[in-house]
Amino acid sequence: MTEKQKTASNIISILKKTYPQADCTLTYESAWQLLVAAILSAQCTDARVNLITPSLFARFPTSESTAKADPEDISDLIRSCGLYRSKTRSIVGSAKMIQEQYKGTVPDKLEALTQLPGVGRKIANLILGDYHHIPALVVDTHCARISRRIGLTRKEDPAGIEKDLEKVIARDDWIAYGHLMVLHGRACCTARKPQCDLCPIADLCRYGKNHQDVRERPQA
Ligand code: SF4
Repeated sequence: MTEKQKTASNIISILKKTYPQADCTLTYESAWQLLVAAILSAQCTDARVNLITPSLFARFPTSESTAKADPEDISDLIRSCGLYRSKTRSIVGSAKMIQEQYKGTVPDKLEALTQLPGVGRKIANLILGDYHHIPALVVDTHCARISRRIGLTRKEDPAGIEKDLEKVIARDDWIAYGHLMVLHGRACCTARKPQCDLCPIADLCRYGKNHQDVRERPQA
């Protein structure tokens, strides 16, 4: 095991104890519904998405019903989560493609998922990991920022970060790592002002080692 792999493993083990509830915070009952919720979550909070999806899924619960929907009806139901016109195009476009090319089943391959309109690696990896339970790293803004601060990557692009993380994080922890990063990014390692003094992984973090105040930081 390399030093970076040991560091990653220790960080994950501490964060699993800190955030035992780490899991996807979107509400869904099928791969299709997770895909839709993930598309809606762009520049919108998961909490707001979860307010919108019950009425959307009551009317259009499947890719089949969504493929036949009038896009205006979808837009009306998702308007409050922002970017609703492009999100409508992505949702209806994905529904049609899944019906026409995959017999109504959401694919379980990254290459196929990323062909769907509005679906990039982040959403594709979320579907693979959270629905299909296939190890996959979701690199969102929290994961990218914290992974750079910790020192597990120096890359800026999500695909490059994903590749670096694949080398240092055990496959079994890929799914959990994404969720842990989201919770840690919201609670402690925020974009504007990381709270290194209070952070349980400060001793293992490149940025934290230079910024923590040891007198105030509780023991991990
Ligand atoms: S020590 Fe600071 S920069 Fe590092 S993970 Fe914790 S809050 Fe973020």
